[in-house]
Amino acid sequence: MKSLYVGIDLGGTKIAGALVDRDGSLLRRIRLETRAEQGPQPVIDRLVEAVIQLTDGVRSSVKGVGVAAPGPLDSRSGVVFSPPNLPGWMDVPLRQVLEDRLGIPVKLENDANAAAWGEYWFGAGQRKGTMIYLTVSTGVGSGLVLDGRLFRGENTFAGEIGHTIVDPEGPPCGCGRKGCLESLASGTAIAKFGQNTDPSSLIHSLAMEDGGLVRAEHVFEAYRMGDAQAEIIIRQTVLYLAIGLSNLIHIFNPGKIVVGGGVSRAGDMLFPLLREQLESYLMAPFRGTCEVVPASLGEDAGVLGAAALWTDSSRKSEQGIM
Ligand SMILES: [Zn+2]
Repeated sequence: MKSLYVGIDLGGTKIAGALVDRDGSLLRRIRLETRAEQGPQPVIDRLVEAVIQLTDGVRSSVKGVGVAAPGPLDSRSGVVFSPPNLPGWMDVPLRQVLEDRLGIPVKLENDANAAAWGEYWFGAGQRKGTMIYLTVSTGVGSGLVLDGRLFRGENTFAGEIGHTIVDPEGPPCGCGRKGCLESLASGTAIAKFGQNTDPSSLIHSLAMEDGGLVRAEHVFEAYRMGDAQAEIIIRQTVLYLAIGLSNLIHIFNPGKIVVGGGVSRAGDMLFPLLREQLESYLMAPFRGTCEVVPASLGEDAGVLGAAALWTDSSRKSEQGIM
C-alpha cells in the first residue's frame, strides 16, 4: 500500500486538512472552524479530530502529519510561542501533544514556510533551485527555499520579510516597532491608507456600497477604475514590496519569486508594476535573473507544504540532493 501523509493548515480562518499522497494529490479534505477565541485546548481537540477523520480506514499507511501554524514558533522543538491570531497560546508544545494523542509522528512548520514548501514542490516553484515565496494578505510573510532546501535559520525564525524595516519613520507595526514592510504594504495597510483618503473619494464610495468598511479590495477596484488616489496607494505598496524583495534578491539570488496571499489574488494588476519597480532597484548583474510569478496553489499551499515536510527527504535522496 502506498505511503500517505496528512497536511494541516492552522494559518487560515479555518483549520484546513488533507490526506495527501507523495505526488501531492489531495485524496481527502476537511475544513473545521478554528474558533481560535476559545483558546488552545478546543483548537487542539478539533485538530486531532481532523486527523482522525482524514486517516479513517487508512491509518496504517499514514507515515506522518505535517502542521502549518502561525508563528512565532520553533519548528525543531515543535513549540508554538504566542501567535497574535491564536489568542491564549503560550509556549504550547504542539508537536509533542499531537504525537501523544495521535500516535503518528508530527512535524510543525510556520505557515509561510509551509506554503513556500508547497509551492516549491507542487506549484509555481517547479522544484527548481532557489525560490522565495512572498505572501501578502493581512500581513506580509515569506518562506525561503535555498538550493532546494527550506531555510529556517538558527532559531527557525528565518524569512520574516514582513518585519524588515523599509522606512525608519514609517507607521507603527503590530510587532511594536515602526516602518516594517507589513505596516506599509500588507492588505491591512492598503485598507488603512484607503480609509485615510478624503471621505468623498471613490474608495470610500465603493466601500459604502459594500458595508462601509474600507478594505484592500476597494482600493484595487478604484485603481482599476482609474482613480488617482488609489493609484498613489497601490504605487506606494508596490514600491515598498519592491524594496523588500530587492533586498532578498541581492542576498539570496533566487531564480523565482512566487507571490501568494489574498492581496496577490485581488490585485492581478500588481504584477506588471511590481516586476518593473523591482528591476529598477536591482544592481546590474541581477537584472533579468529573477522571475516574479503568482502562486498557483491558492489556499492549498499550506496543507500540501505541511504534508511535503514528510515526503521531501525521500524525494531528495532519489534526486541525489542529500
Ligand atoms: Zn513589524
